[in-house]
This record gives sequence, C-alpha cells and structure tokens, in this order.
Amino acid sequence: MKGIPVQIDQVKKSFQSLEVLKRIDLSLRSGEFLAVVGRSGCGKSTLLRLIAGLEQMSAGEIYINQEPITGTHPDLRMMFQDARLLPWKTVIKNVQIGLRTKETTIAEKALEMVGLTDKFDQWPSSLSGGQRQRVALARALAGQPKLLLLDEPLGALDALTRIEMQQLIEDLWSKQQFTAILVTHDVSEAVMLADRVIVIEAGKITFDQKIELARPRERNNDFVYYEQ
Ligand code: ADP
Ligand code: MG
Repeated sequence: MKGIPVQIDQVKKSFQSLEVLKRIDLSLRSGEFLAVVGRSGCGKSTLLRLIAGLEQMSAGEIYINQEPITGTHPDLRMMFQDARLLPWKTVIKNVQIGLRTKETTIAEKALEMVGLTDKFDQWPSSLSGGQRQRVALARALAGQPKLLLLDEPLGALDALTRIEMQQLIEDLWSKQQFTAILVTHDVSEAVMLADRVIVIEAGKITFDQKIELARPRERNNDFVYYEQ
C-alpha cells in the first residue's frame, strides 16, 4: 500500500453568495502528511468534502492520482469528529461496512491495528469516545486507503486520549505511507503529526510550511509514568 498524489488546481467554492474558497492551489506528494489549520468557518471541511467528491466545486479541478475526480475516489477514506458508527451494528460489522467481502479477517486486522481486539462483538453504545474513534479509524483503514482525510478526528476527545490517538495515527501513517490530510484546530497537533502545515484564511492558503523537525519517525512512543 502506498499513498497517491493529490493536486488541487484553482479551486473555488461558493454557497450561494458566500465565497468560501476563493482560489486554492495545492499539490501533495504520494505519502505526504498535510495538516490544514484555520479558524472555524474558513472552509476546511468544505475543502475535504470537495476532495472526497461529496461536494461540487464552483470552479477548478482536483486530481487524485493524476485523474480528475468524478465522485469519491475508491482509494479514499474519511474520518470525522464524530465516529458515525451505526448503533445497530456491532463493532466488527461497523468496520466491515463498505468492504466487498463478508470475510471478517480484514476487519479483525484493522481492529487489531487500533488496539481493539477485545471489542469485536460489542455495541458502539458500550464504547468510550476514544474507543469509538478507534473503530472509525479501523473502518477507514480496513478500506486500505491510499488517501486518508481526517476532519478534526480528535477534536472531541479528552487530552490524554487525544495524545494516544495522535501516536496511533502517526504510527499507522509511518507504517502504511498513505497520503493524509488532517484538519485540526490544534496547531501543536498539526506540527507534531504532519510534515507540512497550511493555513487557510479568507478562502486562500496564507501559509504553507514544511515541518522539518529533527525527529525520527520511529521514535519511542512509550509513555513514561511517574510514581506519585
Ligand atoms: P470549517 O470546517 O473551516 O469550520 P466549513 O467548511 O464547514 O468550515 O464551512 C465554511 C463556510 O461555508 C461556513 O461559513 C459555513 O457556514 C458555510 N457552509 C458550509 N457548508 C455549507 C452548505 N452546504 N450550505 C451553505 N453554506 C455552507
Ligand atoms: Mg469543519
């Protein structure tokens, strides 16, 4: 599995008279991890929805793997702030949604990747917020995405759970090398996870910076607990 490139060419998006995205030009390499930050309402979700083919652009073109998009790309998966699990399906059935096969191995593997081996047959209502997001992440991974869009996936989690999930996302990304676009409010999260950060303001990209931290990707992620 390897990430695919994304190119956004002079994209504009308006809702009636509201010009949300005025002109976006952006090019992502295969396997790049981009973070998008910006104030609430600046058009971050709109940009992701355009890339996901869930919304029609007013002008411009988006290419995924060099092809202009015509709907949702089959190698693309998305994750949202709320897990969007179906409450009447068990965890494993939720992860199987959208898979062509009824075979449970892929779903089981994805749940293992996010550390939920003991929850296969539980109902979403019995899980914590963090566990629900893990299921949502497993569901996205089960589709073997080459492009993963993350719309504030950790925004509703408590601080410690958020740190665990950040480490999980970083770990999965460094193993699987999918292309990732993460929308987040949290600038430190953007800098920690992404290798490039952009800021959107007034419908345009006003900042675009590679993050060149002197940190190996395979750092030691173990927590250190201090005795009280
Ligand atoms: P962000 O994710 O950065 O908070 P959004 O992309 O959700 O912002 O929204 C950008 C702007 O577009 C907001 O002013 C929002 O109200 C407006 N907007 C988003 N979706 C629609 C829609 N379907 N119809 C009308 N206005 C919309
Ligand atoms: Mg949003």
